[in-house]
Amino acid sequence: MLIKQFRNNFINTKLTYMQTKEVKAYGATEVDMPLKEMTISRRTIQSHDVEMEILFCGICHSDLHQVKGDFGGFPSPIVPGHEIIGRITAVGTHVKNYKPGDLAGIGCIVDSCDRCEYCKEGIEQFCDEGTTYSFNSPDKISGGHTFGGFSKSYVCNERYVLKVPSFDNLAAAAPLLCAGITVYSPLKHWGAGPGKKVGILGIGGLGHMAIKIAKAMGAEVIVFTTSPEKVADAKRLGADEAALSTNLEEMAKYNRKLHFIIDTVSAKHDVNTYLNLLRHDGSVVLVGLPPEPLEIGAFNVVMGRRSFAGSNIGGIAETQEMLDFCFKHNITADSEIIAIQDINTAFERLEKGDVKYRFVIDMNSLKS
Ligand code: NAP
Ligand code: ZN
Repeated sequence: MLIKQFRNNFINTKLTYMQTKEVKAYGATEVDMPLKEMTISRRTIQSHDVEMEILFCGICHSDLHQVKGDFGGFPSPIVPGHEIIGRITAVGTHVKNYKPGDLAGIGCIVDSCDRCEYCKEGIEQFCDEGTTYSFNSPDKISGGHTFGGFSKSYVCNERYVLKVPSFDNLAAAAPLLCAGITVYSPLKHWGAGPGKKVGILGIGGLGHMAIKIAKAMGAEVIVFTTSPEKVADAKRLGADEAALSTNLEEMAKYNRKLHFIIDTVSAKHDVNTYLNLLRHDGSVVLVGLPPEPLEIGAFNVVMGRRSFAGSNIGGIAETQEMLDFCFKHNITADSEIIAIQDINTAFERLEKGDVKYRFVIDMNSLKS
């Protein structure tokens, strides 16, 4: 306890003297209010830090959840954005793996204790001392809370920075840093591959990436959507089969057929329907974050020894593995590029499901 207090005091003292730099950003000062242009402070680079100019930043439904206060309030201001691709502009004296001019990525994780069993195992998303997320997370280095990628630049310890392969369409690669890893990690963990029938529930940013990645892993992919127009589109994206989840007759065809299902739905929904599509020992793996609790009927898991599980993003090494996998298989997001000034319209459209399938902000639209 005393040691922890000493460390916190030390961190706070350090903060007082830590130099900062003013950076243009887009954020909100109150829950459920429009985002507007503002200036934030970022620390100047420390010995293990890199600084990057942000080129592109994807818009994830988690950004929207947080701005709306779906998971509670936030310390003001909130600057969302965690699917970041940029170019390194400066490096600290001890930085080994990056130099100015390099392309690089920052995803959901920007700090962790780096010594607990989880960090050592490469699953920093479960760090014992608390993972620092790229926005709206207590910042153990600079104090205050972290500001995300809806901004001109980011400063981050190189340990949490990703090498970005030379994708033809860099903007479309940005969503890999959250949407990509969030589905890659459970697809790998639950064994997507030849001989496995994998269900994907919800075709949004995460769902459409899951179709492409599961297919590249060699699985048979079956998609369930509430949107009639996405049934045909799911096949274009690579799905073997797609069903309208409101059509009960069509859904019944899949009873007890699937090995596991990745559930990307962002709002409250009935998961029991999908548990019944599982073979014995199958799992519904929730990655979506509906703010309300979900109900599970006992018989839907007891019969067939089924599981209802969850998965949270992925560690840094696995994110790098996913980027390299996607580059090898020519996988990026179907993206609509917007200017930062259109962020509030983009959030309104994302809420209505009116995006195919990821908005990406061209950060050049924000003048410094
Ligand atoms: P998105 O682009 O909005 O996609 C969500 C999809 O869910 C929609 O396109 C829609 O697909 C379906 N859906 C929405 N409302 C529904 C409803 N009421 N009933 C049934 N289906 C509905 O969102 P996203 O960026 O992919 O994110 C999806 C969820 O994952 C969000 O909750 C986000 O916060 C969460 N997330 C979690 C992690 C993690 O680590 N676990 C990481 C990133 C994001 P159809 O039109 O096909 O039905
Ligand atoms: Zn995200």
